[in-house]
Amino acid sequence: MLIRHLYCRATVTRGLFVPTKNTWGNQDMSRPSSDLAAFRDIFSKAKHVVILTGAGVSAESGVPTFRGAGGYWRKWQAQQLATPEAFSRNPSRVWEFYHYRREVMLTKTPNPAHQAIAECQERLCRKGRKVTLVTQNIDELHRRAGSKDVLELHGSLFKTRCMSCGHVSANHKSPICAALEGKGAPDPNTDDAKIPVNDLPRCQEADCRGLLRPAVVWFGESLDSDILQRVEEELDSCDLCLVVGTSSIVYPAAMFAPQVAARGVPVAEFNMEHTPATMEFQFHFHGPCGTTLPAALAPHLSEAK
Ligand SMILES: [Zn+2]
Repeated sequence: MLIRHLYCRATVTRGLFVPTKNTWGNQDMSRPSSDLAAFRDIFSKAKHVVILTGAGVSAESGVPTFRGAGGYWRKWQAQQLATPEAFSRNPSRVWEFYHYRREVMLTKTPNPAHQAIAECQERLCRKGRKVTLVTQNIDELHRRAGSKDVLELHGSLFKTRCMSCGHVSANHKSPICAALEGKGAPDPNTDDAKIPVNDLPRCQEADCRGLLRPAVVWFGESLDSDILQRVEEELDSCDLCLVVGTSSIVYPAAMFAPQVAARGVPVAEFNMEHTPATMEFQFHFHGPCGTTLPAALAPHLSEAK
């Protein structure tokens, strides 16, 4: 596929913008359909569905992204703190930021879009059909809604990686370490806690004690090549693809969905906005995905009880 020639897996980095104009060979510029019955007919026959989700799904649960207008933590946006350079300069500040985000997640819950996806996965799986979930969200709301085998492109807020031994582990502790308790306030006038590096989260592996970092893909970092390979295999074999709550001109939908559409496989976009890539897709359902998705993924009349 063309996409593979353009972007070698090992060098795919976060924050990549991809040109979309006619790049993938689909020259049909008629508007995508919003005919739900037509989508439901295709959905009822699909054997292997891939669902890509992005920030829009989390936003409907009130999860802050720290991007765009008003999206600040203290004086900064995510692009300034979610980088290896920011962490090496000031690990205490970056840990305060992530501690705050972890603690905020304790107050958030999955919304009807997460639930519709989890329910659809479970239901179709029982009938021998396959629904693969690929997300760029790091908040684990899909898992909490009951989805299994979630491919997390950008890692998770609730995993850590050791800077010394590389060990990755799940970590749902609140607070993640004693020194961060009560820290991380987002108010712009809050002073840095300046936590000594030895008091930040440390590796629990025997004799290591290395500094831990959040196991998320930061801006400028490469994506996990094993996960990318899995995603590409799923995209190559699916017979229906849904793009939910993510802009189709920004990674990852920009890379993945047009690749599927170019194969002649139906792609349905569920989003609050149109994008240039929208024109390459067969369906576009406009509006909050917590409203549009449950109707789209509900049991079809043709499904045996
Ligand atoms: Zn370690």
